Amino acid sequence: MVEQAKRQIWRNGGRFYGYRINCEQVPMLGACTVRAILDDPRMIPYLVVWKSRKGNEVKQAVRLARSVPRTNLSEVESVDIKWPDGSTVRVYLVWRRQPHGGCALLLRCSRCGLPQRQLYGAGVGDDGHFYVVRRANWECRECARLRYSSEGGALVMRGGPISRLLGLRVPDESSPRPEPWLPYVFASPLDAADAGLARLAESRKRL
Ligand SMILES: [Zn+2]
Repeated sequence: MVEQAKRQIWRNGGRFYGYRINCEQVPMLGACTVRAILDDPRMIPYLVVWKSRKGNEVKQAVRLARSVPRTNLSEVESVDIKWPDGSTVRVYLVWRRQPHGGCALLLRCSRCGLPQRQLYGAGVGDDGHFYVVRRANWECRECARLRYSSEGGALVMRGGPISRLLGLRVPDESSPRPEPWLPYVFASPLDAADAGLARLAESRKRL
């Protein structure tokens, strides 16, 4: 669910460094992804897959479908996101008029209800004693208690150990900010298989 989360807990030779999960490490669902699905007139469910950054292993997969209105009255537009365990989260959509024309799509956080450009599928929780990684039912960054990689100087790399040993003055360098963990979207599991994603049969069985 979260890449490299454990490495964030213990480092500097095992010294406790503090628990943090950066938003770039967890599955992110952007409004632009949802909008692409809404534009499909077929109204079919889509397979949304977050794969490993370094390979084709599926790390997270959900089924995303436009909700079917239950009445003819002014139904609030929404999508249903189905986890592999069968539970479904309904995310409500907000269209916001832009100053230069057109409308931008926003997604309401399932916890606080505020419209956001992106929501997250994992966050920081606690079990009463320790901080833990928990599943977030598509929540905003604040509700999921996620941080940006750049917060607290986390992206600053200092000079290497040999330079420090020799007493050389090595300037700090900024490492590139990690990209958000964006999903791949498929109209069917077979399309995902064609794309070469591993563990697909398992995902298809559970979704
Ligand atoms: Zn929220």
